[in-house]
Amino acid sequence: PDRTEPFTATLIAGDGIGPEISEAVQKIFNAAGIPVSWEPVQVSALTGGVNTEVINSVEKNKIALKGPLATPIGTGHTSLNLALRKAFKLYANVRPSVSIPGYKTLYDNVDLTVIRENTEGEYSGIEHTVNPGLAESIKVITADASTRVAQYAFQYAHQHKRSTVSAIHKASIMKMTDGLFIDSCRKVAARWPHINYVEKSLDAAMLQLVQNPAQLDVMVLPNLYGDIVSDLCAGLIGGLGLTPSANIGRDAAIFEAVHGTAPDIAGQNKANPTALLLSGVMMLRHLGFYTKADLIHEATMATIREGKSITGDLGGKAGTSEYTDAIISRLQQEM
Ligand code: NAD
Repeated sequence: PDRTEPFTATLIAGDGIGPEISEAVQKIFNAAGIPVSWEPVQVSALTGGVNTEVINSVEKNKIALKGPLATPIGTGHTSLNLALRKAFKLYANVRPSVSIPGYKTLYDNVDLTVIRENTEGEYSGIEHTVNPGLAESIKVITADASTRVAQYAFQYAHQHKRSTVSAIHKASIMKMTDGLFIDSCRKVAARWPHINYVEKSLDAAMLQLVQNPAQLDVMVLPNLYGDIVSDLCAGLIGGLGLTPSANIGRDAAIFEAVHGTAPDIAGQNKANPTALLLSGVMMLRHLGFYTKADLIHEATMATIREGKSITGDLGGKAGTSEYTDAIISRLQQEM
């Protein structure tokens, strides 16, 4: 049964086009009758430092929608993204890549979900130079983190009525680390008998993804492979601009668009809010508002399919606000 109780969500509008696309999502949620109170918090990665206001807000609400943040040049990851990942033990990064009707790409019916382990693996940060011609990096895999992400992958597959979870690995070479990863996945799989479980070597999976993406469904991967494969899957549906994502944690879940702040079009009513909107749809499903999530998803897809009021990046002429209004009129027809 669908959830109906109201909830409060932290809203990090972000930089650049962030405020415009967040406003679009708020308007659409409002039109769909989502019982949400937004708690906006001001953060800008440009001002740097860890912001206690945002940490406190997410800690209280356990749920956040986040627009893109500008990254100060030369520092790589924003400190806020790292602070959030640490503070809320965001262990799984989830990226669905679903074909957008009317947006022509090589394949029409892509429907893939990458679930990436987000705390360890090759990104543990344990690296050293042994001597000037020799550097080493240590990949850490634990049964705990592997089990946790596998558990989430099966729960996701169950909730989203998906048939198969594939664990993607390179255990033929990394016998101990990837071996432990798939061993953990296999143990979790045994507890979900109604969902098929497949183990696939990374190289074979990549060949299948580019030749016929319908051969894969939900994938669970160690950190580095997940990072790479999620971008490959986004490429299959037309790039990062339309891709939503979720960061699932022990203590909170944060939903965000994969694209950046698009400074070239900021403040011009040109931005496409779809990725942030679909991140919001993931948030609704995560909270149990399945019917409302489907309603918004359908209205968005129908608007794009029709092609009359779409933004410039999709080949249309509409502004952010016209596109938003077109989705709202669709919603109103369907409600
Ligand atoms: P970008 O994603 O902001 O822009 C790349 C291109 O895609 C631009 O031409 C832009 O106009 C277009 N684009 C992106 N999103 C769009 C949308 N919703 N609608 C229409 N067009 C869109 O990437 P970039 O230029 O490399 O990065 C700009 C800034 O964003 C940098 O400071 C970067 O660090 C930051 N960034 C933040 C995040 C995040 O917070 N999650 C992610 C990526 C980049």
